[in-house]
Amino acid sequence: MTPRAKNRPPAEAGRAPAVSLVSLGCPKNQVDSERILARLSGEGFRVAGDPASGDLIVVNTCGFIEAAKRESIETILEMSSLKGGRCRGLVVTGCLGERYKDELKAEIPEADIVLGLGGPERVAAACRELWIKTGKKMPSRLGLGSSPSTRMRIGPPHLAYVKIAEGCDRACAFCAIPAIRGRFHSRPPKEIEAEVRSLVREGAREVSLVSQDTVFYGRDRGRKGSLADLVRRLAGVRGLAWLRVHYLYPTGIDDALLRVMAGEEKVCRYVDMPIQHADDAVLKRMGRAGKRADLEKVLNRIRKIVPEAAIRTTVLVGHPGENEKAFENLADFVRQARFDHLGVFTYSGEEGTASFGAGPVVPPEEAEARRAEIMRAQEGISAALLREMVGRTVPVMVDGPSEEHQDLLSGRTEGQAYDVDGVVYLTDALPGTRAPAPGSLVPVLVTESHTHDLAGKIVQG
Ligand code: SF4
Repeated sequence: MTPRAKNRPPAEAGRAPAVSLVSLGCPKNQVDSERILARLSGEGFRVAGDPASGDLIVVNTCGFIEAAKRESIETILEMSSLKGGRCRGLVVTGCLGERYKDELKAEIPEADIVLGLGGPERVAAACRELWIKTGKKMPSRLGLGSSPSTRMRIGPPHLAYVKIAEGCDRACAFCAIPAIRGRFHSRPPKEIEAEVRSLVREGAREVSLVSQDTVFYGRDRGRKGSLADLVRRLAGVRGLAWLRVHYLYPTGIDDALLRVMAGEEKVCRYVDMPIQHADDAVLKRMGRAGKRADLEKVLNRIRKIVPEAAIRTTVLVGHPGENEKAFENLADFVRQARFDHLGVFTYSGEEGTASFGAGPVVPPEEAEARRAEIMRAQEGISAALLREMVGRTVPVMVDGPSEEHQDLLSGRTEGQAYDVDGVVYLTDALPGTRAPAPGSLVPVLVTESHTHDLAGKIVQG
């Protein structure tokens, strides 16, 4: 049972209880959080931005890898420390809740209710239950309801993520996602289009399509080529400036999608394809489809059909069985492939996955050294590729004042995704009333390049 804090001030009678939600993890989880907030609001709760102002707090957790689990637990503990004040109840939901419900209940009793991935309705029901337990009545429901497209946005209003599917049918040996999120199921194109239209009406200018395995879209319904059709269909939405597609399993990238990317102006020429590794033996151990030669073929196809595409990947080092030679193969591939953007994770053994405890373990310090080596190689590649941009004029989407330099605006080319890739600093546009608004597309002459970022000046179009 939850320990009851003493001397807590009674909640005001009759006012709508405020709920604060802390969203962790990836953009897919952010979409879930936005749906939860919409549902809570529809049920008569007020939404508080600051957890200290919440009568109830919801933590939407991530349970993907060790670092994410640690961050989720630290956040739950941090939020539970607010329970002596205004906060009257704490709900934990999301991937970590799904994976470790019993452990969390036993080890963090401050969390009043631990849910898995039951959806916004269950989170709202949990909040109602906790609020009623405090002896207060719920205000009458406002009746907003909750369709999958009903969201209360968090993050910049001009950028939105749209989940086109849930779950994953692959069996990557290191990954716990299929066990957490279940089988892959696509959302109907009509429903996705309606959601995109509604987001654009509310001010979104760039929409990023996400899912665990985006190239699989439609295949669970027996339809190949559905992703290309969907992207083409969404590119027709009026008012949308950019459409970006994330998480493309390399061997599933078909020419139809690449042709849509090459031909539709609004579709960003940006290929986000996590390869995870490039050594044949490690790929096999990882349960990944294809070999190094297949990855090379995919890269060649992309560069042939969409020559201007920026290509992003992620790799995983330190997987069981990754010996020195296998790592060298990966490092060599990275140097040859010259990805525009690259992220490296070190392996984290996840209970219940096929890789867990399978085969020779790479010591953590060795895995970290391998991560650093790949990052060093990538820094040189990124700097060289960005140098080639200097002197070119490119469309840039303005995101607003830069996080690093508040006196500068920052934006992105279509080859840079928000939050994961570099940015373009606009050196002659100061934040203020005459600055282009977030979401504006402006022509920018690139004047400088750095390791991951560019700088430039807005030119007259
Ligand atoms: S494709 Fe592989 S890594 Fe990605 S979610 Fe599915 S099982 Fe996990």
